[in-house]
Amino acid sequence: MTALENGKLLAGSPDHKEIALTFDDGPKPGAIEPLVAELNRLGIKATFFLVGQQVKEFPELAKMIHESGHEIANHSYTHPNLTKISLDDAEKELVNADMEMRAITGSPVIYWRPPGGNYNTQVLDRARKHKYVCVLWTINTADYLRPGKDKIERLVIDKATPGGIVLAHSGVQDTVDALEKIVKELTAQGYKFVTISEMASKMR
Ligand SMILES: [Zn+2]
Repeated sequence: MTALENGKLLAGSPDHKEIALTFDDGPKPGAIEPLVAELNRLGIKATFFLVGQQVKEFPELAKMIHESGHEIANHSYTHPNLTKISLDDAEKELVNADMEMRAITGSPVIYWRPPGGNYNTQVLDRARKHKYVCVLWTINTADYLRPGKDKIERLVIDKATPGGIVLAHSGVQDTVDALEKIVKELTAQGYKFVTISEMASKMR
């Protein structure tokens, strides 16, 4: 079993000492700027799974993420549970978000993450029609539960593996505060922080 199959990326290659930090939701004013600023200060690139209608509402925030060299990815248009709406609507959620985002990035946005982690084979098949790749994770910080900076740091550092994908959220100050230690510690261990595109490019 490879980590990239059936239109799903479960993890990167175990042969490369790379980690992808990913941040779901937004962009929301006040929530995204401190996170992007901290990533930029630390000199690493991350991937942002954004919600299409919020990109439409706050295009300047999406532009700022893109222009800082981070990757923009698709987290649907309105953040519904894609398994609880019709398949046509689920497909539209992904396509409409892609359209909104590619207006900013200038190219198709192929990586997507299901809101709430909810997907099924039918939704995956609809996404694959458009060559969209569903991105899951190996480390869930559950940072929206506000576990605190120390727990987030320890979890990510302890569970880091080559090809690891870290799921976190924008708008969580604990996560922003945990980044410095995570980056310093894993860099010292020889890890490189990459975007999902960079990670996936090693899978083919
Ligand atoms: Zn979400």
